[in-house]
Amino acid sequence: MNLNVSGVTFGYNGKMVLDDINFCLSGGEVLAVIGVNGAGKTTLLKCLCGILKPSGGAVLIDSTDTARMDRQERARRISYVPQRYVDASMSVYDAVLLGRKPHMGWSLTEHDLQVTEDVLHALHLESMALRQLSNLSGGELQKVIIGRSLAQEPDLLLLDEPTSNLDLRNQMEVMNILNTVAKQRNVSIIVAMHDINTALRFADRFLMLKDGHIHSLAPWGDITEGLICQVLGVDVIMGNVEGHHVVIPAPSIQ
Ligand code: ADP
Repeated sequence: MNLNVSGVTFGYNGKMVLDDINFCLSGGEVLAVIGVNGAGKTTLLKCLCGILKPSGGAVLIDSTDTARMDRQERARRISYVPQRYVDASMSVYDAVLLGRKPHMGWSLTEHDLQVTEDVLHALHLESMALRQLSNLSGGELQKVIIGRSLAQEPDLLLLDEPTSNLDLRNQMEVMNILNTVAKQRNVSIIVAMHDINTALRFADRFLMLKDGHIHSLAPWGDITEGLICQVLGVDVIMGNVEGHHVVIPAPSIQ
């Protein structure tokens, strides 16, 4: 699967948020989208999944313009996990199973049930399969919604701050699973995130948004203190702990 984002432009009420965004992504790659609040990360993800219609440019998957795909095909190929999720009254099991909807014919298949159970197992959600979404903590709900999009088995998975409600162990678990899914199933994953350290650990490349443009698109190994300072407007110190890049705000920052 190859994603080609070509000249995507979008504004709200005439105010430009994304101006001529161009990049490509291959199957198996994890791309972190980084930028300050309001930089346009969510808007970019919404343009990629078709919730927002760009005023210019195109989003192509394997050379097919996603704007020309019908809803069913788009739902089979692209999954979007929003930052906030309004829970419906259903069980955890049903919420994950719902991810199979774009693939279903008239009835559920053994495969649909197997995929659902595999996802519940991978995310350690089996013990809460029968609980209602409305009774879950924010972090538990976030995992279930990520589980639903994994059950969807898309080619392109878009996640908006997927670890924001998760404790450290769950952050690592979710990011590890996303990485495994990308590499083993050749899925392309785009994650908008604020946590630079998690991004440095799990993303192959960084897309840094600033003032409506791509400030830089770089492999994680090319991320520098200067680049982070330019994009996030904060002085940082970068170190190396057991082979992992780690970033902390400079001590001078109060
Ligand atoms: P980020 O995800 O990087 O925080 P967003 O994509 O949410 O940024 O927002 C980019 C800009 O677009 C911000 O200035 C925000 O206020 C504005 N914006 C977002 N959604 C809307 C909307 N529905 N109507 C008008 N402006 C919006």
